[in-house]
Amino acid sequence: ENQPYSLFSSFEAEEVTFFADLILPIPVPKLFTYRVPRGMAEGLKIGARVIVPFGKNNGRVYTAIVARLHNTPPSQYQARYISEVLDEYPLTTSYQIELFNWISEYYMCCIGEVMNVALPSGLKISSQSKVQFNPDFDYPELLTDVEAILLAELKKQPALSYDELGRLAGTGSNVPALIKSLVGKKAVIVFEEVREKYVPKMIRKVRLHRNYEEREQLLVLLQRLEKLPKQQEIVMRYLSYIPMQRDPSLNQKGLDKSILNQAEELSQSSLTTLIKNNVFETFEVIQPRFSDNSPATSVEIKLTDAQRKASEQIMTQFESQNIVLLHGITGSGKTEVYINLIQQALESGSQVLYLLPEIALTTQIVVRLQRVFGDKMGIYHSKFSDNERVEVWKGIVSGQYQFVVGVRSAVFLPFDNLGLIIVDEEHETSYKQHDPAPRYHARDVAIMLAHWQQAKVLLGSATPSLETYYQAKQGRYGLVELFQRFGEATLPTIVLVDTKQEKKQKTMKNEFSSTLLQALETNLERKEQSILFQNRRGYSPYMQCEDCDWTAECSNCAVSLTYHQRDAELRCHYCGHKEQVPRVCPICGSTKVRTLGFGTEKLEDQLQIYFPGSRVLRMDMDTTRAKNAYQQIIQEFEGGQVDMLVGTQMITKGLDFDNVSLVGIFDADRLIRFPDFRATERAFQLLTQVSGRAGRRAGRQGKVLIQTNSPQQTILQKVIDNDYKGLYEEEIQERQDFNYPPFSRLIKLTVRHPDRHISHQAAERLAAELTDTLGSTRILGPEEPLVERIRNQFLVDILVKLERDKMNVKAVKAFIQERINDILTDKGLRQVSIVIDVDCL
Ligand code: ADP
Ligand code: ZN
Ligand code: ZN
Repeated sequence: ENQPYSLFSSFEAEEVTFFADLILPIPVPKLFTYRVPRGMAEGLKIGARVIVPFGKNNGRVYTAIVARLHNTPPSQYQARYISEVLDEYPLTTSYQIELFNWISEYYMCCIGEVMNVALPSGLKISSQSKVQFNPDFDYPELLTDVEAILLAELKKQPALSYDELGRLAGTGSNVPALIKSLVGKKAVIVFEEVREKYVPKMIRKVRLHRNYEEREQLLVLLQRLEKLPKQQEIVMRYLSYIPMQRDPSLNQKGLDKSILNQAEELSQSSLTTLIKNNVFETFEVIQPRFSDNSPATSVEIKLTDAQRKASEQIMTQFESQNIVLLHGITGSGKTEVYINLIQQALESGSQVLYLLPEIALTTQIVVRLQRVFGDKMGIYHSKFSDNERVEVWKGIVSGQYQFVVGVRSAVFLPFDNLGLIIVDEEHETSYKQHDPAPRYHARDVAIMLAHWQQAKVLLGSATPSLETYYQAKQGRYGLVELFQRFGEATLPTIVLVDTKQEKKQKTMKNEFSSTLLQALETNLERKEQSILFQNRRGYSPYMQCEDCDWTAECSNCAVSLTYHQRDAELRCHYCGHKEQVPRVCPICGSTKVRTLGFGTEKLEDQLQIYFPGSRVLRMDMDTTRAKNAYQQIIQEFEGGQVDMLVGTQMITKGLDFDNVSLVGIFDADRLIRFPDFRATERAFQLLTQVSGRAGRRAGRQGKVLIQTNSPQQTILQKVIDNDYKGLYEEEIQERQDFNYPPFSRLIKLTVRHPDRHISHQAAERLAAELTDTLGSTRILGPEEPLVERIRNQFLVDILVKLERDKMNVKAVKAFIQERINDILTDKGLRQVSIVIDVDCL
């Protein structure tokens, strides 16, 4: 099933093109055939963006991508004309079109949904795109009646969408044509970045005139130039770059004009003379992806022996493996190894993609990478504006960026010559997109992408996902280990704090054990920094009446509301619903309304009380909403004026601070006991990663305190011993016994409806139909998820469990889709929606 295949046959140049099959950014599972106007047919290429009318009366307009060119008219409908071609040089590569198609098949969604997520909105014009009145317009042109009406309306509004204009223009009007005409008359402006056509950078080159490609003629020329030393020097210089005496055909490649110009003061005019005298000729080419004379990197990375060995092993394993796992403990300097490999790949002329989880991709790593790669490196981050994303996209096509570091959606960028993809922290669940479709896993997509481009994939982690480690153990991936921290630093000492015991002895102060308070105190005295981890934001997750047990719950979702003290409100973490904090119980009127449990806000408050005068920062979703908030917190903490950093799992990812010697972990039990077959693996990963923030510099032995009610849990001992392999052995056995991934593939189907009865009815029917064909061992559920209602939709899950290697997964998926379509078209089950999540986490 992982075999690539081509749906899009290549187009023969001699054929006359009349039709184009297009990808439209809408959730309809097919390509759309449009007619190509004669004048456009010539230069239209696969991967180019075009603008097309759509819908009744052409009332909508979309940016579409050309996936196929042919001359077979569609049999079902009369094809409409493409209105406009946006790219003379395609902005999407044929690789991407294949990838979009693979994703839509594998993750069971529409190719249009993939395109929609893949392209930054700045590259799409849609029905939502706006048209503005051009303030410089002074009516020099004649307007048609309809145009005049539209323009009058546009003058009154800041902007109007294509849809709105369609409504104003009335039925039967061709909105794209109208707008095109208005744009032509300079009466309106359409969003600039959308209309901007892609023009590649051209560079001027020079080459010797054909006449001199023959050796004898060349010698004659050089002799003739004896009396003109400057000119002769330029020709000699040219020959030193292009040794055409050896191979005359090299001359056709030519040389950057700028290189010859750099020679001597007077060379510019000498070169001009040579060109005028037809010794040299100039020509233009699209800027090559890799200029032959790119400057070498300025920073020398000196790898430690262990790192060098790891890097060499990876290169050796790449000779026989396409995918290699680098299992390197926290602080071992995996980034330095990556940098080394990236440099090698870039030197060989290929592109490199370096994927990082969302949060990790912030100042720290970017600064380190920029020092080495400068502005040759593109950065693709979801907090970046759309314009910035468009810039990176175009920068890859134009060759400005040979190397991109980015978050999961960077797998959609238009690479065409990848040599290496690095997936850092490959175990991170944030690589999986939940909503909207495509619900893809960036690591797995990266592996497919690499497969097509014959690139190598390096997966890196201190705590690999069981799936990945299993593949390595099976010999399907290479495996390289790096078990030494950089520069004499050692892994931190991990100590369990028995909170049950401390509670008995009454030494706990709220959430803090005396052991942790003592350690924090010591750290403050030493002027060393501490990190405190609690995977829950807000002040407290519950608000409850002591007299009648009423609990504040969301009106739209089946969850309790979280109390946020800063903003004095109750919030739903699922739908965003907010409420005022009740003064009395809304049921019995009691004033004994209390909060239960604790989140990062409460810890922050308590630290201020226990350590007055100390500086505490908090890092969670609430404090990092603004674009640069995250960077600011990190910089302040790095600056050293801050003593303690409290945070959610955000603080566990890849952060590297010199002065942190203590990590405190709250509520480890909640992580471990989460009802999910992956809970143990997750808990181990989180605990190990957050512990790994401590003691990253030599001479500063790190310490980690884990507060727990039951210190005897075996997973905690494994965290203490940094025993990943022990954890793996135990977990993989369990996965095998119960046939969970990596021994099976999971597809989760979530049925949703505002009426509980209907969602259950639909789910039961779907489960029964699937069971009939696939057998009861492969279908789990239907079952209500932990949170059974979100945004007023009742949810029911069905889990399809398919053995690896035994099933024709493609056929099964087609069958599932068919059953789902059947249910969705049932009149009795109107409004039911079914979310398909392949390889759900
Ligand atoms: P990991 O990602 O494996 O947790 P990092 O790559 O963040 O580790 O490295 C840990 C720290 O050690 C970083 O501050 C890094 O700059 C430093 N470091 C690692 N290797 C080297 C090296 N070869 N030379 C200089 N500094 C290094
Ligand atoms: Zn009450
Ligand atoms: Zn809610």
